[in-house]
Amino acid sequence: MSAAVPRKLGKAARLILVGAPGAGKGTQSGRLLEHFKLSALSSGDILRDNVRKRTALGIEAETVMRSGGLISDSVMVRLIVGELAKRGWVQSRAELTSGITMTGGLEVLGHGAVATKLAASNCPTSSFLLDGFPRTQKQAESLDQEVDMNLVILERISNRMVHEPSGRIYNLTWNPPRVPGIDDETGEPLTRRPDDCPETFAKRLKQYDDATLPLLEHYDKAGILWTVDGKTSDEITPKLIAEIDRRFG
Ligand code: ATP
Ligand code: MG
Repeated sequence: MSAAVPRKLGKAARLILVGAPGAGKGTQSGRLLEHFKLSALSSGDILRDNVRKRTALGIEAETVMRSGGLISDSVMVRLIVGELAKRGWVQSRAELTSGITMTGGLEVLGHGAVATKLAASNCPTSSFLLDGFPRTQKQAESLDQEVDMNLVILERISNRMVHEPSGRIYNLTWNPPRVPGIDDETGEPLTRRPDDCPETFAKRLKQYDDATLPLLEHYDKAGILWTVDGKTSDEITPKLIAEIDRRFG
């Protein structure tokens, strides 16, 4: 669903999408990509890709992901910053220090580590969206060293219901139960705890709460945090588009 005619951005948007497991970050990310000229990177997708390809990292990550844990900050930072550099969204520090010629223009701020941060291109076509990274304050601090993100979107949604005994999931937007609040198969009541196996999901949520609060404080202090609430993904999308339009249109 798009609320308005697809359009180009007037300024470079470097966005971070934050949301609880099952909040539908992937859904919003897809819609934003469709609506604006944006590129996106999803940490979950990159990890799952590594799992599929049976890379060393993927094999290790699989166990952690299955158990509902988080991959370590150092592994995530290497993985994602490497990917950002590969795509040319940031200049990798290794390249900077080895003196490879840069094309994007170096932000010369005087001295120390800050001077090696590349000025992010202000060209609207170099806009990008990160979905799932950073997820901890530590990750955010590492990303800060590489590039100035300019909007962190906290998505808060309550549109999923689950039949806990079977793990059947309903989405009130695109896959509602035939009778509201009732499981189609058994006629038993649904609850609001979404996602896979209840214990794993509970762990994910706890993990999210623990890791995300400091992350949000970090970006709130930086003055770039914005929160969007909604009962469904469809309710959130137009708000999201309007805000991005307002800031970067
Ligand atoms: P959603 O349903 O909104 O996509 P999710 O919990 O499935 O939420 P993903 O981003 O798909 O989140 O990530 C899946 C798993 O990959 C996480 O549970 C975690 O184990 C791991 N993971 C992804 N991104 C990170 C990260 N930045 N730091 C640590 N672990 C991560
Ligand atoms: Mg996911």
